[in-house]
Amino acid sequence: ATGEGFEADEIASELAAAGSGPLPVLAVVGRPNVGKSTLVNRIIGRREAVVEDKPGVTRDRVSYEAEWAGRRFKVVDTGGWEQDVLGIHASVAAQAEFAIDAADAVVMVVDTKVGATDTDDAVVKLLRRSGKPVVLCANKVDGPSQEAEAAYLWNLGIGEPYPVSAIHGRGTGDLLDAVLRVMPEAPPQTFGTALGGPRRVALIGRPNVGKSSLLNKVAGEERVVVDELAGTTRDPVDELIELGGQTWRFVDTAGIRRRVQDGVDYYASLRTAAALEKAEVAVVLVDVTEPISVQDTRIITMAVEAGRALVIAYNKWDQLDDERRFYLEREIEQDLVQVQWAPRVNVSARTGRHMEKLVPAIETALAGWESRVPTGKLNAFLGELVASNPHPVRGGKQPRILFGTQAGTRPPRFVLFASGFLEAGYRRFIERRLREEFGFEGTPVHISVRVRE
Ligand code: GDP
Ligand code: GDP
Repeated sequence: ATGEGFEADEIASELAAAGSGPLPVLAVVGRPNVGKSTLVNRIIGRREAVVEDKPGVTRDRVSYEAEWAGRRFKVVDTGGWEQDVLGIHASVAAQAEFAIDAADAVVMVVDTKVGATDTDDAVVKLLRRSGKPVVLCANKVDGPSQEAEAAYLWNLGIGEPYPVSAIHGRGTGDLLDAVLRVMPEAPPQTFGTALGGPRRVALIGRPNVGKSSLLNKVAGEERVVVDELAGTTRDPVDELIELGGQTWRFVDTAGIRRRVQDGVDYYASLRTAAALEKAEVAVVLVDVTEPISVQDTRIITMAVEAGRALVIAYNKWDQLDDERRFYLEREIEQDLVQVQWAPRVNVSARTGRHMEKLVPAIETALAGWESRVPTGKLNAFLGELVASNPHPVRGGKQPRILFGTQAGTRPPRFVLFASGFLEAGYRRFIERRLREEFGFEGTPVHISVRVRE
């Protein structure tokens, strides 16, 4: 019983797309105003507007999906940074450092009209040190007459400058071809378990929720010396911590300990994105002494959109009085209803309260994240569901779900093949019922619907 009306190769390609693992990450770095955001817009086909009219506008999202020559990847946009926070050199370097760290390949953008500057040289140094593959974009070559100027950029010493006009699209195809030649098909060793290494945890949350306190508490004296662990590469931004009899890799902890970009939302969100990129599970800290804020929900949304397993840790529980607790529960009901499936722990990094519940919550979330529903079971469930709760009739037609399959895990991804468009409300209903039936505690669930033309 496969999908009536669907070609086999159509189903196969749908499954390949839905089930493919983590995508390689391309970072676009460079000085301000060289055209990074314009280039990112080109690469992602303007599906999402990223160029802001005001410089220094804070962005929530820094990572976008793109496709070129049949290959999918993520693009990390580093435009939109705050110019005067740290001074120009330090800002560009800090921004590039975060992005390069999370990337599998890098496009360095230079303004050909201006030529190479000292700041460009500083970025080149970082790139060299990173060892990541780099493609040099000589931007603002709007016509053939400027191509000669692009050749000067060989001086940067990072290979061939690709003349591009991001604004007109000129040369971007050649640039992307070059990127695909050096970018791995899939990010190497993204997930610890694939290699039998420690599971990767991102500890995230807005400033002052207690990330560094929690990290110190759980690390305690139990911190594992990285070099002693066979087969682990030394990554100074990660920490290996023993918890509940297992070793966990807390990713990107350098940023937490250093408290670099305090108060600068844009950096905080870059750092969060970078940590999520590397993690399997996100532990989002929320400060219970303050009302749940837009920043909290934004960070939770980033974790969900990144497709990571999720645990929510309500911290500073030692400070909670009855009145605040009453409001907290109402805020959770109102603002976090979309992530009711996430395991919840009420902790205090200060007193150590309920620290022992953290690991079981993380394990529950990871189990949900990796779970798989056999196709037979899924279709038996869908059959019953559709019979008892058919889609409402629209325009004299009633869309039917013909067949479904789980195309992938981490997180669970489902593809439903249907005879017509399924309304958002019905899709949410299916997700709800899927969760009731199969669990998926602590994990986002993706459902894509393929409609027979
Ligand atoms: P970012 O700060 O590096 O992200 O730079 P933006 O993408 O915001 O671009 C900075 C300015 O350069 C904007 O005014 C763009 O319109 C302009 N720009 C970007 N790409 C090109 C290009 O290929 N040619 C020309 N002439 N201008 C460009
Ligand atoms: P970060 O910015 O998220 O890393 O937050 P910190 O760990 O630096 O904590 C911010 C402040 O909250 C510090 O003054 C901590 O001592 C305090 N704090 C952290 N966790 C707790 C907690 O569980 N209870 C109380 N009462 N204070 C806490």
